[in-house]
Amino acid sequence: MSKIFIDFDCTIADSVKTYCNVYNSFYKERDGFKQADHNKVNRYDLKDQCHLIDHQETIFSNEEFFKRLEFMPYAKEVIERLENKYELVICSIGTLDNISFKAKWIKNNLPFIDNVILISNVVETTGIKTDKSSINMKDSIFIDDHVENLLSSNADFKICFGKEYDWNKNWTGQRCFNWKEVEKLLL
Ligand SMILES: [Mg+2]
Repeated sequence: MSKIFIDFDCTIADSVKTYCNVYNSFYKERDGFKQADHNKVNRYDLKDQCHLIDHQETIFSNEEFFKRLEFMPYAKEVIERLENKYELVICSIGTLDNISFKAKWIKNNLPFIDNVILISNVVETTGIKTDKSSINMKDSIFIDDHVENLLSSNADFKICFGKEYDWNKNWTGQRCFNWKEVEKLLL
């Protein structure tokens, strides 16, 4: 059975939408606040819509983010069906807080997934490489929304997931704009 490595943020979970929702509730009383529109995000750090944030982890490492986190449309159903035919591995990077909340979210929302690789981002000055290229994806399929992750991976078949953003617009390979398209392609 072949393996599929699946990214978490913006692939399984609608992180952009949730991030904007949390921002709108956390920052609405602040001076200079303008409602963030998740449909208009085009920067990976979301600063084009969430202007008042100094550091992304204010939201990504906050429990509230995971309380409100939603699946991408049809993600759960399609992943459940893929599980019958492939060995699935969820693969994501984050701060220690982010990945501990993420682990619980995955356990609660995708209890049938046994394989989860969560990498904590190490301080850059250590020189330790902790991106997804450290995972051997040979003979496997890899689904991710970020072009850099796709390009640095040794997966045999790579799928760029979701709508076109600044961080994946240069991808020229296979694309699936939603989970229905993934289902059509892989099942
Ligand atoms: Mg992602």
